[in-house]
Order: sequence, then C-alpha cells, then structure tokens
Amino acid sequence: MRTQVAIIGAGPAGLLLGQLLHKAGIDNIIVERQSGDYVLGRIRAGILEQVTIDLVDEAGLGQRMHAEGLVHGGIELLFKGERHRIDLNGFTGGKNVMVYGQTELTRDLMEARAAADLQTVYSASQVAVHDFDSSQPRVTFEKDGQVHEIRCDFIAGCDGFHGVCRASVPEGAITEYEKVYPFGWLGLLSDTPPVSEELIYANTPRGFALCSQRSLTRSRYYLQVPLTDKVEAWSDDAFWAELSLRLDDEARERLVTGPSLEKSIAPLRSFVTEPLRFGRMFLAGDAGHIVPPTGAKGLNLAASDVKYLSTAFIEFYRERSEAGIDHYSQRCLSRIWKAERFSWWFTSLMHRFPETGEFGQKIQEAELDYLVGSAAASTALAENYVGLPIKA
Ligand SMILES: Cc1cc2nc3c(=O)[nH]c(=O)nc-3n(C[C@H](O)[C@H](O)[C@H](O)COP(=O)(O)OP(=O)(O)OC[C@H]3O[C@@H](n4cnc5c(N)ncnc54)[C@H](O)[C@@H]3O)c2cc1C
Repeated sequence: MRTQVAIIGAGPAGLLLGQLLHKAGIDNIIVERQSGDYVLGRIRAGILEQVTIDLVDEAGLGQRMHAEGLVHGGIELLFKGERHRIDLNGFTGGKNVMVYGQTELTRDLMEARAAADLQTVYSASQVAVHDFDSSQPRVTFEKDGQVHEIRCDFIAGCDGFHGVCRASVPEGAITEYEKVYPFGWLGLLSDTPPVSEELIYANTPRGFALCSQRSLTRSRYYLQVPLTDKVEAWSDDAFWAELSLRLDDEARERLVTGPSLEKSIAPLRSFVTEPLRFGRMFLAGDAGHIVPPTGAKGLNLAASDVKYLSTAFIEFYRERSEAGIDHYSQRCLSRIWKAERFSWWFTSLMHRFPETGEFGQKIQEAELDYLVGSAAASTALAENYVGLPIKA
C-alpha cells in the first residue's frame, strides 16, 4: 500500500486529521488497533472549546454538533456549601463552550470517513513504524493473519498515551515531563437529567466532585477517590450517596439518580513530550501530552495539534513549503504548556490533597473566595476555560 500520510490511531485526533487532509485532497490511511465498535464505546470527554468547534466546522461535520450540542456560557464553583457562577461569556467578550460528547464527535467523524470511502484499517495488530528519520517512512501491521506494509511521505502518531509511535523514538531524542496525582476520578454515566443547567465544580472537605452532562437527558458525574479504590467496590447507591454529600442543599434536592450506564476510575496525570516531531513522524493529541481532566482540555488540545499539523501538511503539498512542518513542535508546545498549567492549577485548587490537610483546605477556600470576588481572577479562569486562541 502507498499513501501520502499514514495515520496511526482512530481517536478524535486521527479521525479529524484524516478528514481535514481528505478535504484538502491529501491521501491518507488510518491504522487502528481496536475495532470500530470498541472505539465508539469509549466514554471520555464532553466539552468542546470554540477552537474545536471551528475545526469540526472546517472539516464540514458541524451539522449534528450544532443541532444537538448544548452551548454553555458559564460554570459554577461550589465551595463552603455555596455555588458561585463564573460568567464565561461575559468575562471573555462573548465566548462559550459546547457540551457534545466525544463519542458523538467520534461517530460523526467515522460516518464521514466511511461515506467518503476512505481507508481505515481497524483491529490491526503488531503495528510498527519504520524509517521515519528518512524520506521514505513505512508502517507495518498484521490483519487477518497477514503482514501488510504502508509506504508513505509522513506518519502522524495519533495513537494516544499508550501508543507505539512515541515508544518507537530513540531514548536520547525525546524528553518527557510528568506529574502523577495521588487520586483518581470515579465517573458514572446515567440516563438522568443533569442536576443543573451548567457544570458544577465542587471543592469539599470530602474531596472534589463534578456534575457534568452529555445532553439534557444524560448526566456524567465524577468523584475524587483514592487511587487504591476499585470500581467494583462502588455500587451505584454508594456513588449517589457520596455525590449528595459533596453538593449544596439545592443541588442535593434536585439530584435525580438512576442506574449507571458506565462506571470507571481514571488516574490523573500531567505529561508532556518534547519535541513532537521526529524526522517524518509527528505526535498529536494524547500521544504527545496528557492533562488531568479538570480543565476539560484533553480533546481540545488534540484538536489544536491537528489544526497545526493539517495546516503544515497542506502547506507542504500545495506550496512545497516546509515552514509549517518545521514549526509544528514549537507552535503546539506553546499552547500545550499553557493548557497544562491551567489544568494543573485548576486541579490543585479543586481537589483534596492528602498531604496538605486542613491548612490546604483553608488556603483553597481563600483562593476560591478571591477568585469569585475578583473580576481579574475570574477573567483569567474564564479565558483559559473557553480556550486560548490558536496562534499562526
Ligand atoms: C478514561 C478517560 C476519560 C477522559 N475524560 C475526559 C474528560 O472528561 N474531558 C476531557 O477533556 N478529556 C478527557 N479525556 C481525555 C480525552 O478523551 C483525550 O484527550 C482524547 O481522547 C485524545 O484524543 P486522541 O485521539 O489523541 O487519543 P485517543 O482518544 O486515546 O485515541 C488514540 C487511538 O489510538 C489507538 N491506538 C493506540 N495504540 C495503537 C497502536 N499501537 N496502533 C494503532 N492504534 C493504536 C487507540 O486504540 C485509540 O483509538 C479522557 C481520557 C480517558 C482515557
């Protein structure tokens, strides 16, 4: 097989990149190790920044997102038993975020790819990348007991945190920065109406809680839990009881409980790889960086990487210019580190850290008090939450 860009991974980064390249007339093949159904079944992010919304529109796939997505102009911070609204729209001169599940976005991207008859190899095993330091990189994989090879101009490593692309870079050529947090998020998805119109981020002495949503009838709730907790030990009843204890009186009364559709524990991590380019191979999305989900940045950072990478490839093929390719790492990393900082800060502010005790709790409450009372501090939160602009 031969293509211009071989994309490893059919998560949002790989699928969005494939669609944007296709629209620009650039040939691409996606190789994914899981089945399509497995990829669609993963419950993950749900908040889109304007940058991501714009990119989905650019890919020509915004129709269902605009029809079904919920525009949110604010978030609520709950501490010391009271809720305070941060007017994202007001503090950013009219910017919002949109609630539209990663699963829905993935479905839109997969359907568009199938409709355009673009090649995606699902359930590929033994995926390997070769010769990316030369002008003729290759990808090999096994499918139905046969070994296949793709020859290409470029490899896009969109294969997530546990993928093969980053792992194939020689040790001395890559630097990794990492912070692991001493807790995880227990998430529960249910077909129940959300407890509030907007998201509630709760800082409580019992730990952090988030009331999120996927639609007007589907809720996603999270609880901070110790890393030693096992999901099997959390019954639905125990989850709802603990969530109630972390809410204010009004939310507690409005909370509608129901059976879980999905329940899982995710560890929290900050992680950045530098650089993101290795000859003719480029890392994009979770393959190159991870944020704790508190700031809702994971999917959105994957989208901004894809914006830079698709632009770079289009420049290369249309203008024979390597400028975008040469600047890819630096452009992405500048935005990535700012989102890493925000996600780390918001995580540090909202979670209970075992080692800081009562003093830590008091300091967090003082900072939250300052935050909701200061237009300058609220603006800084709002600007980062809706997403920083993409620089050329
Ligand atoms: C459990 C969980 C919950 C999350 N919740 C949130 C949230 O609430 N809010 C938020 O903003 N973000 C959240 N995120 C982060 C967000 O989902 C990711 O940032 C986003 O999925 C990144 O997209 P991606 O395409 O870069 O990577 P991924 O979605 O991980 O996609 C990578 C793809 O590559 C495939 N792959 C891996 N290895 C190989 C290989 N060797 N060969 C071929 N294919 C391979 C994988 O199967 C996968 O399909 C969550 C992540 C996880 C794991």
